[in-house]
Amino acid sequence: MVFYNPGRTTDYPAEPVESGYRYHYLGGGDEVGNVGIVLEDETTNRLLLDYGIAPTSPPKYPKESPYVKNAIITHSHVDHLGMAPWLPANYNTNLHGTKLTADISHMMWNDCYKISSIEKYPLPWDKRDIDLAMDSWITHEFNQPWEQENWQLSLVNAGHIPGAGMLKVETDNKNILFTGDFDTRDSPLTNGAKPHNVDMLFIEGTYGGRDHANQQQELNRFIENVIRVTDKGGTVLIPAFANGRTQDMLIRLYQNCPELDVHVDGMGKRITKLQLENSQFLRDPNLLNDAWNWSKRVSSKSDRKKALDADVIVSTSGMLQGGPSIWYLNRLRHDIENEIFFTGYQARDTGGRKLQTESKVDIFGKEVDISLNWESFSFSTHAGHKEITEFIYSCDPQDVIIYHTDPNNARPHLVEELENNGITTHSPENGKSYIVE
Ligand SMILES: [Zn+2]
Ligand SMILES: [Zn+2]
Repeated sequence: MVFYNPGRTTDYPAEPVESGYRYHYLGGGDEVGNVGIVLEDETTNRLLLDYGIAPTSPPKYPKESPYVKNAIITHSHVDHLGMAPWLPANYNTNLHGTKLTADISHMMWNDCYKISSIEKYPLPWDKRDIDLAMDSWITHEFNQPWEQENWQLSLVNAGHIPGAGMLKVETDNKNILFTGDFDTRDSPLTNGAKPHNVDMLFIEGTYGGRDHANQQQELNRFIENVIRVTDKGGTVLIPAFANGRTQDMLIRLYQNCPELDVHVDGMGKRITKLQLENSQFLRDPNLLNDAWNWSKRVSSKSDRKKALDADVIVSTSGMLQGGPSIWYLNRLRHDIENEIFFTGYQARDTGGRKLQTESKVDIFGKEVDISLNWESFSFSTHAGHKEITEFIYSCDPQDVIIYHTDPNNARPHLVEELENNGITTHSPENGKSYIVE
C-alpha cells in the first residue's frame, strides 16, 4: 500500500522524550473515531491505545503508527480496532484487550475486509493479517493489572458496550486514564463506568455541549410508538448496529412488550452469542439470554420471509447500508402502515441519512422513494455533556485531554466549562506531539 510504508511515512518524532510524558494522536485527536494514541515516557516505554478506521465512504485511516511492542484496544468498534491487524503484521505487536473484544475482533476485521473489497477501497492490511492479529491477542480481565516495563496497566469497565474497557496507566509519578468510548449510565447490557482518581485524563468528548434525553422518557416514547404501529397492523423495522444496539433493543422490547412478535437478523446474532459466552462482561446475563431466546432469530430465507409479518424486526445494518435491513426495507416499503425506527446516529452518505433528509434510499443499486413514516430515538451509550463533566470532576485530574470529538461544535463547550472550573484542558490535533510534565 502506497500510503503506508512502515518506518518511513510516520510523522511520530524520532527523538526520545526528554522529560514528562509525550502523547501523539495518529487519529481521533480532533475527530470522532479513527483513534490511535501513542503515549511515551523518558525511559522510551511506549504504548499505542486503539488503532481504528472511520467507517465513512471512503474510510478514513489514522496516520501510520511508529514501532510499538504493545497496543491496547479499548473495545470492539471498528473506529477503535479497524487498523489493528496492521500492527502485528508489521511490528509483531501484542494486542491487549478483554476476551470479549478479542473474540468479536475477528468478525469486525472480516467485515472491514469484505466492505473494502466490495466497495473497492484500499486497506493497508491483508486478509491473512487477520489470523496473525488473532494470534497476537493477550487478554485481560477487568481490574487485573499487568506490567509493561516501569508501568502498571489495567483495564476497567467503561460501560458503552460489553467488554469495553478504560485503560489505567500507573507510573512512578503519575496515574493516567484513557476512557476510550465510555458512559457512566447503565444500559440494558452494561453497568456504567466509575470515576478513578488520576493526574492525567484522556476523555472522549463525542457529546460535548449536548445532553441526552431522560432515558426512561425516551424508552416510554419508543414503546408507545412501537405499540401505535403494531396496533394498526404495521411492522416496525429497527435498523440497529450489531455490536451493542441490537441486544439493547431486544432487551427493551422483551421487558416492555413481551406480547409482540419480534424477529432479529444480521451480524448482531453472532455478536449476541459471543456476549453470552463471555457473560462476565454483561450487567445481567440471564436477561440477555431470556430476551435472546424470546426473540425469533432469522436464520434462513424462509425465516426472512416469515419475518415480514412480524410486529418488529431488529436488523443490521444500523445505518441502512446494506445487510438484511435493506432487504426488509425493500419489501416493507410498499405498505404505508409499516414504519422505520432509527435508534442511533445516521452518518453522512448513509442510507439512513438519505431517508431522513430526502425520503430516498439506494436499494440494490437503485435509488428508491420511501414514503414510510420514520421516527428517531436516542439510545446512545456515550456519555452526554453532563456525564462527561461530572466524570471529570470526580476523577479530579490536573490535565484533561479531550479527544474523539468534533473540534468545532462539541469540544469548545467542554473546554469552556472545564477552564471556568480551573481545570487545565488540552485540545489535541492529529499528527502533533505534546508533552505533559
Ligand atoms: Zn468510538
Ligand atoms: Zn464505540
